Amino acid sequence: MKTIEPDVITKEVKRLAIEAATYLEKDVLDVLECAKNKECGLAKSILEQIIENDNLAASENVPMCQDTGITIVFVEIGNEVYIPGDIYDAINKGISLGYTEGYLRKSVVKSPLNRMNTKDNTPAIVHIKHVLGDTLKITVCPKGAGSENMSRVKMLVPADGIQGIKDFVLTTVKEAGGRPCPPLIVGVGIGGDLEKCALLAKESLLRPIDDESSDLDAKSLEKELFEEINKLNIGPMGLGGKTTALAVKVNLYPCHIASLPVAVNIQCHASRHKVVILW
Ligand code: SF4
Repeated sequence: MKTIEPDVITKEVKRLAIEAATYLEKDVLDVLECAKNKECGLAKSILEQIIENDNLAASENVPMCQDTGITIVFVEIGNEVYIPGDIYDAINKGISLGYTEGYLRKSVVKSPLNRMNTKDNTPAIVHIKHVLGDTLKITVCPKGAGSENMSRVKMLVPADGIQGIKDFVLTTVKEAGGRPCPPLIVGVGIGGDLEKCALLAKESLLRPIDDESSDLDAKSLEKELFEEINKLNIGPMGLGGKTTALAVKVNLYPCHIASLPVAVNIQCHASRHKVVILW
């Protein structure tokens, strides 16, 4: 059994919260660069500014966007790991320290009705998965409201089929237009039930930007949706162009014979997440 102290978790979550807000992962920067080289005119110039902004944030150690998000934390805990304390508490202490000492904007309200700011960006939204092994994997993802607000869930029925799924995803992206700060990564969760498909869509955003689904049907749907979305001419920041999506990710899960739940989780170009594996 490996023991991981709550203080270690707090320290790492604090570091990840600050780093996620400041440094974009190289795979996202590479895809932005590639998109810039395919565009011309205004679309190219906007992508140049996005890349310059991301590089400046990293070199000046400041957030790449004013919306430093509500924080989603994915945890994979091995069955041979023992934590002598409350993991939720340890994570939230890390978020609090990261957002206060890192001078990140606090964007969380205590109640959706009274709208009072919690002043330290807690609580995080924590998803814990139990796995085999002796490691603890923590992924910290700040999620801005601009893109999250444009996300949708729909309970389709099997008769709607693949065409129904495509129509729903395309309509969601079309209606979002420039509001979620394109170019986007479009996460699609299909299957499970109402909440599972939303989680699948969010988890799909954590996949490397250039990977493809190992499921052949999902892979072909990813390719078709990517091509169709990029024909919409929404373009970088909604001002037209070939690059509306940088990637489309489709994650699947079994579902009821009479159901076809679909969720679309929209991610803006500030696709932020940082990971640590503790043991
Ligand atoms: S959608 Fe993304 S880039 Fe736009 S303001 Fe929100 S976090 Fe920032």
